[in-house]
Amino acid sequence: MPIRPENLHRYPRDWPQISARIRFERAGGRCECTGHCGLAHPGGRCPAIHDQLHPDTGSVVGLTTAHLNHTPEDVRDENLLAACQLCHLRIDHGHHRVTRSITLAARTAAAGQLGILADTDLARIEPPTPPRPTAPRTAPTDLQLSFTDQEAS
Ligand SMILES: [Zn+2]
Ligand SMILES: [Zn+2]
Repeated sequence: MPIRPENLHRYPRDWPQISARIRFERAGGRCECTGHCGLAHPGGRCPAIHDQLHPDTGSVVGLTTAHLNHTPEDVRDENLLAACQLCHLRIDHGHHRVTRSITLAARTAAAGQLGILADTDLARIEPPTPPRPTAPRTAPTDLQLSFTDQEAS
């Protein structure tokens, strides 16, 4: 995910160097996601490799660096993950409820068609945190209206 302008100041000055080190020195140019995004990647790790075609999307992979705790200031190695666009997007949006059904579908497919993933492997790559109910992001319409009325008077 591109850095949002309003968050730019939250990144350290040497972020480009940190990001490059994570993506190319540590990750070797390959997506490091082992289920952080909620998907059960066949073989345990996302197969996406920088500058090559993504096996799932078919488009060229541009490796990015994700913050696992969504905090740009936190550039400790353990908080950073080299991630392809697909995994990064899913990590940022935390689609736990969506990914859960996809994980189940993948598990079914793996059990039925591939038979190479043991249940213990699948359990290991489940997202570490349980799904949380999301709070409504906007106030009810009548509250917004009364606020506007106050502003106008
Ligand atoms: Zn990936
Ligand atoms: Zn992933």
